[in-house]
Amino acid sequence: MIIYNTYMLLENEKENYVYIAETNKIFKINFLIKDVLLNKPATEEEMWKRVNRYDIKVDIQEMIDKLEEMKLIYERGDRIRKIEIEKLDICDMTLLVTQKCNLRCEYCFGDGGEYKNIGIMSFEVAKRAIDFLYEHSRNTKDIVILFFGGEPLINFEVIKRSVGYCKEKDILYNKKTHYSITTNGTITDDEIVQFLRENNFLVQVSIDGIESVTNANRFDIHRRGAYSRILEGAKALQDKMVVGARGTITPAGLNVSENVTHLLEEGFAYVHLAPANNMLKENDFEKIIENYFLYCEEFEKLLLEHKYKECIARHNLYSILREIHEGKKRNVYCAAGFKAISIDIDGYIYPCHRFVGDKEFCMGDVSTNVFEHDVIYNQLYKIPEKCKYCICQSICSGGCMHDNLLLMKNINIPAECNCKLQKFLTEQALKIYISLTDIDKKYLFGEESCYGG
Ligand code: SF4
Ligand code: SF4
Repeated sequence: MIIYNTYMLLENEKENYVYIAETNKIFKINFLIKDVLLNKPATEEEMWKRVNRYDIKVDIQEMIDKLEEMKLIYERGDRIRKIEIEKLDICDMTLLVTQKCNLRCEYCFGDGGEYKNIGIMSFEVAKRAIDFLYEHSRNTKDIVILFFGGEPLINFEVIKRSVGYCKEKDILYNKKTHYSITTNGTITDDEIVQFLRENNFLVQVSIDGIESVTNANRFDIHRRGAYSRILEGAKALQDKMVVGARGTITPAGLNVSENVTHLLEEGFAYVHLAPANNMLKENDFEKIIENYFLYCEEFEKLLLEHKYKECIARHNLYSILREIHEGKKRNVYCAAGFKAISIDIDGYIYPCHRFVGDKEFCMGDVSTNVFEHDVIYNQLYKIPEKCKYCICQSICSGGCMHDNLLLMKNINIPAECNCKLQKFLTEQALKIYISLTDIDKKYLFGEESCYGG
């Protein structure tokens, strides 16, 4: 009995290809293999009959060997996520320097940025967290600190002192710390802009799209829309550095393509959108997919015009294309709880900022140096049933844990609405990928890439 793994047949005007979900690899194939994959003969004898219809001499054993070598048949791989936790270096830390915010966004999962524990992080806690990161990053030279909140710039003083402290530690430990910040952009001033620039911060501003879409959900305590203030702050930042936009797709902003185009026109270097799972209904997701169709068409048009920078800026699709190009298999959807951790204002460790305050997912405390990977891994080690044969298994691998928890009450059960979106974008990315020329690849992924700039 021949067992077929999950694959997708692809073709352009010149060639046939197969994408193998198990390995995240694409192969060029001849018409015989295409025929076999279209018809899936169940036995070697049936396969022989299939290919024998053509007037060509074929060595069936050779063909089976080739299919096996491509991992198209038989080999199903293991169904357990084998992650050697003891060998994992923690190299990415989110510091919640505040659990308070000057805005009150409707979809905020942290209850207005407060995570049920309003306050700001002291420098003592930040220092202990940084010590923890240096110790647990072990041999990894490049480490990342993301300043997050609430609105992190409310606690600019601790951000400044933390960066100063990291600089001392970088020298002592021979490491290089990279800084990033996610801000709502409303409290930027000259000193802040200058500081972020001098320290090469990767800056992301949270903004959802056109004015009415952003204002529908991002407002201050008096419910005054924050769009103008966000954009004013973003412009000051853009004037001095590369700034990305992080948007949320809400019922008010289902027109993905319109919002992305607007934000790029307003000077953001790239735009990444994520659905607000706590607001959207099932039929909203249908509309988002319809809109993503347009977004993908625009992407293809830009590609034809060799506008690579604009393609890269459309991050939701570009990031999948890049994963396909790199051909690596993901074990889990994101590094949260494995190589990445988040620290709350009191020094408690969580897999990512979204889990802050949920004691079930507290992984330890930087003050006592207690840290348990198992809190997450014990629930994640089995690959979810629906992912086993999914076309996105190497790219997505289970979906965002927090979305799963929110929608399915279990971090390891993917929510169908997100799966539909992921599958749609992955299939579009695969179709686009096989049309890329070597020059396209060089500019999109290679040395000549204009990524981020
Ligand atoms: S979470 Fe959904 S889209 Fe992702 S691999 Fe699993 S089944 Fe596929
Ligand atoms: S669990 Fe979800 S929200 Fe948290 S880091 Fe991963 S993808 Fe992001």
